Amino acid sequence: MDADVGVIGLGSMGSMALWQIAKKGVSVIGFEQFGIGHDYSAAGGESRIFRTAYGEGAEYVPILKEAYRLWRELEQESGNTLLHLTGALMIGEPDTPFMSNVLNSIQTFDLEHEILNEEQWKRRYPQHRLLPGEMMILDKLAGGLRPELAVVSAVKRAEELGAKVYSHCRVESISNSGSTVKVLANGKEYQFGKVVIATGPWTGVFLSNDKRQVHAKRLVMGWFAAKDIKRFQRNNFPVYIRESGEDKFYGTPTFEGSMVKAAVYHDFGAVDHPDELERKMMPDDLGILRETVQKYLPDLYPEPVRIGVYMDGFTADEHAFVGSIDEEDRVVLLGGFSGHGFKMASAMGKIAADLSQDGKTEFQLGHLSPKRFLKKNPV
Ligand SMILES: Cc1cc2nc3c(=O)[nH]c(=O)nc-3n(C[C@H](O)[C@H](O)[C@H](O)COP(=O)(O)OP(=O)(O)OC[C@H]3O[C@@H](n4cnc5c(N)ncnc54)[C@H](O)[C@@H]3O)c2cc1C
Repeated sequence: MDADVGVIGLGSMGSMALWQIAKKGVSVIGFEQFGIGHDYSAAGGESRIFRTAYGEGAEYVPILKEAYRLWRELEQESGNTLLHLTGALMIGEPDTPFMSNVLNSIQTFDLEHEILNEEQWKRRYPQHRLLPGEMMILDKLAGGLRPELAVVSAVKRAEELGAKVYSHCRVESISNSGSTVKVLANGKEYQFGKVVIATGPWTGVFLSNDKRQVHAKRLVMGWFAAKDIKRFQRNNFPVYIRESGEDKFYGTPTFEGSMVKAAVYHDFGAVDHPDELERKMMPDDLGILRETVQKYLPDLYPEPVRIGVYMDGFTADEHAFVGSIDEEDRVVLLGGFSGHGFKMASAMGKIAADLSQDGKTEFQLGHLSPKRFLKKNPV
């Protein structure tokens, strides 16, 4: 065998899995088709929102608390600052599923938060123009992550712990031979006891029998100039997620000191094959970003000065697949994070390490079980 474990894809999830597996003292090799920390898929664009009061379901909260602990651990081990706590504003009408889940997460797990009345939000966060009937909740254990640096930090730390890394090395296929898993990469064959698949938007094209279960989708973000950038610093402009009727969007304070990022949840079109992601900006991309900023963030100039086009793998219910996908429990999948996975990547690395080494994890993962859509033995 070449190593106990092979990790395919060293983006958000794979880099963290590599780090956590190497931390267990297990021999591991990681394969990445591009350079480490590249921004061609799901992990690019300077920042990712971390939040704990979770609009996608309170069942994520224990995973997110563990993710927070592990982000801090990775910072300590790498010496890099990866997570800036700013708090996160959740804005919308109180009875939407998203806001109900935020409130349920807070109540169930006693999360530190503030519910702001109109006088408070007008005084503290006047950068947001609220609509009648909307509320604002401040999730305190929240902020902005630095995705590219996090990926590089995890891979470098894994290498220090003994992991081997093959970058610019594309895995062409894997096959389960009963006692080992064979991996064919850049024309060479490798053998492992276990394999972790973390191929992100490529998951649908990588899994041979279940291609349609993870679709790559195009996601677009914009950077905007502010009328007064001092109003969009990390200390006075928390990351936010907002659902105002049909308008769903999110953003961060300025990270580099001159531009403010905002992005909309919008169907920017399926990607037929992730190798062919259209990274040019389209007139529609610009239009929707411009209109959203104009309507809700009056202190930004609504014409984006820069646009970034990325993609993520989506499942039908927008919850990921996390778990073993073969009869022999040799292949663990971390895939289909559906536009909201980065914040939990550190915890997903640990979960993959535990599943591949011990066959179990301390976390409840029923909502992420691959069994809900995938056939067994899809590789
Ligand atoms: C624009 C945008 C904004 C987002 N905002 C947030 C946010 O604010 N907060 C949040 O929590 N989440 C957010 N997300 C979601 C989050 O970024 C993703 O869910 C997460 O990054 C997915 O990680 P991944 O490891 O599955 O994919 P990736 O990070 O894309 O990693 C997959 C890796 O596998 C490699 N690979 C694929 N096939 C092969 C192969 N055959 N051989 C070798 N390597 C291969 C790829 O090159 C890539 O490096 C956002 C996503 C996007 C696109």
